[in-house]
Amino acid sequence: MWAALIELNSYRFRHGARPLLNYQELCREVAGVRVGELSVPALRSVVRRYADACMETARRKRRGERARYPRRRRQLVPLRYYAGTFELRGRRLRLSTARGTPALWLLLARPIPYGDEAVRSVTLLSDAGRLVLDVSAEVPVAESQEGVTAGVDLGIIHPFAATSGSQALLVSGRVIRAEERLHLADTKARARATAKRAPRPAQRGSRRWRQARRRQRQAEARHLRRVRQMQHHAAKELISWAQAKGVGTLVVGDPRGIAARDAGRRQNRRVATTWRRTHLVGALRDKAEVAGIEVVLVDERGTSSTCPECTARVPKPKGRRFTCPFCGYEGHRDLVGARNIAARGGGTTTAPAVVTHRRAGAPPARRDRRRHLMDRHRSCPAPGRPARGESLAGRRTPTDGAGSTDHGRWRGSGNKANVALKGH
Ligand SMILES: [Zn+2]
Repeated sequence: MWAALIELNSYRFRHGARPLLNYQELCREVAGVRVGELSVPALRSVVRRYADACMETARRKRRGERARYPRRRRQLVPLRYYAGTFELRGRRLRLSTARGTPALWLLLARPIPYGDEAVRSVTLLSDAGRLVLDVSAEVPVAESQEGVTAGVDLGIIHPFAATSGSQALLVSGRVIRAEERLHLADTKARARATAKRAPRPAQRGSRRWRQARRRQRQAEARHLRRVRQMQHHAAKELISWAQAKGVGTLVVGDPRGIAARDAGRRQNRRVATTWRRTHLVGALRDKAEVAGIEVVLVDERGTSSTCPECTARVPKPKGRRFTCPFCGYEGHRDLVGARNIAARGGGTTTAPAVVTHRRAGAPPARRDRRRHLMDRHRSCPAPGRPARGESLAGRRTPTDGAGSTDHGRWRGSGNKANVALKGH
């Protein structure tokens, strides 16, 4: 369906006709068309997705931005089913199919955490080859809470640092950073191991190359799921702290525009690609709405280099400790940022008397197979791994080779990774 819509418009374009970009027009065009066993609502959801993408492109073009209409044929496009076109019975889900074709029942891997009546729509999609169901449900939203104002500083070391009055919260992002670093080490090892198989320009990739690419995409998707899960966890910690402290408004330092600054290769990578602040703010907004807490975004410029006591401009601290050379105020750098942000939103704070520490996400498993990739950089190797300077190959006995599934695909320091990969 997706490919047909692209083909339809490219045909019209070639013959001087106006391309169809509007949902209603496209629906008229595809009326009566049958594609496999897809039901009409499923077909229309593809049309809707295509029309939305076209509208977004048109909007960007009007603003003078660079944008292109959809042109890539995709193998799998998400299908959305609205109420009445699906049936939910606990963990069993029936999706509508074309008339005269057998019903399609799916068994979900885990129950949906909302009542069957609360679910408004389901979207079936493929996440790097895994079938996933996205669920939209109607959830009750609490009445807007009257309460104090808290300032929230977003960051990488601490996804959330918040203060309100003399109370403070620090949510540690250590586990998220560990996941980022393990994933980076893993990506590099994959690239090293498969670089030789990469097709040259205009050359078709080999089967093994395509398999390697697929595994890389799967690892990428898994990593993203983990980071998002931990960001949700961090937002949940912040909201439950805010509820316990009677917070009615969260003033959040707006990080938009931070990716545009050039801060050097390493910092750019951290800020622009791996922080995923849009998701972090989105998760916070959603959970705040359910809890009846208002979220206000303010400009965060200069909030980490201003003294919250005497409002003097202070050079940005290098470490986590903020010290004011004018009035002598000392405090945690991220909490100083949160205090200044709270002040911008009209909140009052004092030097925190109580700092609550929380951690986002569960630390990576001891046996995470990516850990040995980091061992070269560690002062103390992970358990069961050789110490620095001692290679895995050197410790091998001849019998090891016979029973091992290592085909020499992963050479050098990562030559055990292939064994671990088989388990996936
Ligand atoms: Zn000061």
